[in-house]
Amino acid sequence: MTRPRKLFVKSYGCQMNVYDSHRMADTLAPEGFVETAAPDDADLIILNTCHIREKAADKVYSELGRMRVLKETAAREGRRVTVAVAGCVAQAEGEEIVRRERSVDLVFGPQSYHRLPEMLKRAEYGKVIDTEFPVEDKFDHLAAPSRIAMRKRGPAAFITVQEGCDKFCTFCVVPYTRGAEVSRPVEKIVAEAERLADAGVREIALIGQNVNAYHGRDESGRTSSLARLLYRLAEIPGIARLRYTTSHPRDMDDELIAAHRDLPALMPQLHLPVQSGCDRVLKAMNRGHTRADYLRIIERLRAARPDLALSSDFIVGFPGETEEEFRDTLRLVSDVGYAGAFSFKYSPRPGTPAAEMAQLPENVKDERLQCLQAEIGRQQAAFNARCTGRTFDVLFEKPGRKPGQIVGRSPYLQPVQVMAPAGMVGEIAAVTVTEAGSNSLFGALVRAPKSANARVVEAAGV
Ligand code: SAM
Ligand code: SF4
Repeated sequence: MTRPRKLFVKSYGCQMNVYDSHRMADTLAPEGFVETAAPDDADLIILNTCHIREKAADKVYSELGRMRVLKETAAREGRRVTVAVAGCVAQAEGEEIVRRERSVDLVFGPQSYHRLPEMLKRAEYGKVIDTEFPVEDKFDHLAAPSRIAMRKRGPAAFITVQEGCDKFCTFCVVPYTRGAEVSRPVEKIVAEAERLADAGVREIALIGQNVNAYHGRDESGRTSSLARLLYRLAEIPGIARLRYTTSHPRDMDDELIAAHRDLPALMPQLHLPVQSGCDRVLKAMNRGHTRADYLRIIERLRAARPDLALSSDFIVGFPGETEEEFRDTLRLVSDVGYAGAFSFKYSPRPGTPAAEMAQLPENVKDERLQCLQAEIGRQQAAFNARCTGRTFDVLFEKPGRKPGQIVGRSPYLQPVQVMAPAGMVGEIAAVTVTEAGSNSLFGALVRAPKSANARVVEAAGV
């Protein structure tokens, strides 16, 4: 009997890469590949890379050095290991990767994943580089996950509904690595959600680089908004919770804001990146919105859903940002009050307009980042602390940190550790929060598992 071929996939960066990695594994399963968590055991190693900041791209090259050693060890044992680089570094750097790291056999961009089986065959005879933006939709050709794979991945799943970006923020590589905005048709997304629900998935997060710019065709040929797609998915039996990420303030339309009020399955949590609190910087970033526009959207969202937990992305040290302009960002953070946020030092990306502008010294960026992260950390801790004593539904996802514990997510996306039977993974149950840490909550079950729609049992006060 031939031994199944082993596949090791490592994802860097965003959730879209995690989703893509799953779909690559699904596409390779019919070719006889089974996933392994150990790279030294693998016949095929895929690094699914991220190019968003310099550090993310650098990590790939140091990992490739380790993969070269594995490949050489395997060769001495008479085993062939194929090393592939996928994702945005592959798209942006193409052949340069093979020049820098000879052990790489295959380089392919995010739009080529469906051609993986064919590319692997070609890689047996020489290096393969595929960074085309093909005309056909890769989603039409990627294999669906098996029921076993879906169950293994847990009760909360992602579906990519939109890819690419037409907004061209001056700091960002995404429009160059992921290409123009494309939305998947409604029926394909619904079919994928139905399959997931059938395998026990209870929560779906719709993902896209600009997810609220979604404009896929529905069955009657009309364009559907993200809000309408969410309403459609909420009708699927078993799907109790919906989320979406990442949104752009410019695409936060009335219908979507109203869905936060009217659609019970839509969780009271939203990641809405703003990047800066200063209008001059926002303009230089080509964000297409002002600080006031952003604050107005937040006000309307909170009017629709008062307990909405907000998070955001911030960039500090954008070229030309003055101390006072950075203070504007700090003031915005304190005006909004976030449940959490990601913050980054500006990282010049080759080929983007901001990389050509006069850069700030690294120590200035470091100080600003520390200062902003301290404020965000305080807000996150305060948000978590306000949850103590509250009771809300938790979707249990996997075993917890300690024996006897399982961990799930609150409606606000915080991890919640609870002493409960492992058999409750996949269930939604009411939990009273007994203690709040800086990153997660601890709680106790208040009643037996139930399967009704997720809801906040006691919503006031967050
Ligand atoms: N489309 C989303 C939006 O418009 O906010 C964000 C997508 S991007 C993958 C995720 C985050 O990475 C951005 O929100 C931004 O904060 C950060 N980012 C992007 N380019 C960056 C750069 N050159 N330096 C530092 N952070 C960057
Ligand atoms: Fe990048 Fe801006 Fe597009 Fe977001 S909207 S992906 S930050 S270019």
